Amino acid sequence: MMNKAGYDIGFDVGGSHIAGALFSGEKELMRLQTPYPKNEPDKASGIIAQMIEALADAIPEAAEDKLSLLNVVGIAVPGSISRDKRTVLNAYNLGFKNHPLPELIERKLNSRVRVLMANDADAAAWAEYMRGSLKGYANSVLITLGTGVGGGIILNGSLFTGGMGNGVELGHFIMNMAAGEKCSCGVRGCFESCCSATALIREGVRSLSSAPNGMIAALSHGDAANINAKLVIDCARAGDPAAKAIFTEYAHALGCGIASLINIIDPERIAIGGGVSGAGEFLLKPVREYVKQMSFYDNFASIVKATLGNDAGLVGAALLHKTMH
Ligand SMILES: [Zn+2]
Repeated sequence: MMNKAGYDIGFDVGGSHIAGALFSGEKELMRLQTPYPKNEPDKASGIIAQMIEALADAIPEAAEDKLSLLNVVGIAVPGSISRDKRTVLNAYNLGFKNHPLPELIERKLNSRVRVLMANDADAAAWAEYMRGSLKGYANSVLITLGTGVGGGIILNGSLFTGGMGNGVELGHFIMNMAAGEKCSCGVRGCFESCCSATALIREGVRSLSSAPNGMIAALSHGDAANINAKLVIDCARAGDPAAKAIFTEYAHALGCGIASLINIIDPERIAIGGGVSGAGEFLLKPVREYVKQMSFYDNFASIVKATLGNDAGLVGAALLHKTMH
């Protein structure tokens, strides 16, 4: 069943929508998006089962049961997943706790498909490895810089999901235990508290009082609600001193985190994704310099921008069955 060359379906379950797509090899044939009723996790299985049937209907091949042409259906979930990929242990943003989502979906489809899950950051890393910026790099890391910091690790060509089955939490290794900012997880000084888009926004907001005549204050009209990561980056790019100081500190922290990852696992390549990666070489160039100063090795991983963007979770979910070979 797992080796047949059929069609792939992947889902990305987000905080407000469930996106699903049908693929034939690398070609996307159809994509659907349905609102997800956030605090009603029991509805997710029904929604996804319906979406699987609708997507399978779009398979161009004639078959008595089009569901039989599908490889294992994969679902990317923003939370922790059991080692057998069959239970959402916890997905706080979705209201899932010990939720057997795949089994519920399979039951609704009379067991005509098999369903597996992965953490969305792991799925994204797998997608970058199979189809994107990490292709050909059997030991590699994806770091996503968004509202939080996440990512996944590929080791020896396999998706590494931890020894205890907890997965990897790239955002929560600790950089500054004494003077660090409080992280979303409650600990002080995590990588995420320094390197998320949220961290850039936090510092941008602080600059309203420390640099009231700066460009961030001007462009945001002094209103914290108008400050996002892109605004801070744009001001730094334009040469505003306060924004440049924030951005330099950010790049320094990111360089620190990446150098630590390099020292621990010595990957061949590290890809940077998430909203902040939109800064491109303006960010990556100083980061490479900091890594060069701090890495234990002279010859270290290439550091590049991830290429699959917001589709990474969906694509990785569709290719989840390939993690089992
Ligand atoms: Zn943390």
